Amino acid sequence: MSMQPELATKICHQCHEERPLAVFFPSSLYADGFTDRCKRCVFDSPRRERERRERRVQHEAAAPHGVIHTGGILALTHAEIW
Ligand SMILES: [Zn+2]
Repeated sequence: MSMQPELATKICHQCHEERPLAVFFPSSLYADGFTDRCKRCVFDSPRRERERRERRVQHEAAAPHGVIHTGGILALTHAEIW
């Protein structure tokens, strides 16, 4: 079977759109020789990653260990005041 690169497509793992291989970065890490996310998603990912991190930070702030941590800071501040 001979694949013609210009006709080959791949489904992006992030946006799930079937797109031509030309919009995927070549990569030896993947069996088919291309990254599993299209260039648009790769370029888009830093922003998405930051949004995910910010959401995680908010979530951790509400988690029990976040409360304990905050309590530690408050206790330290209290000790310094007295
Ligand atoms: Zn994509």
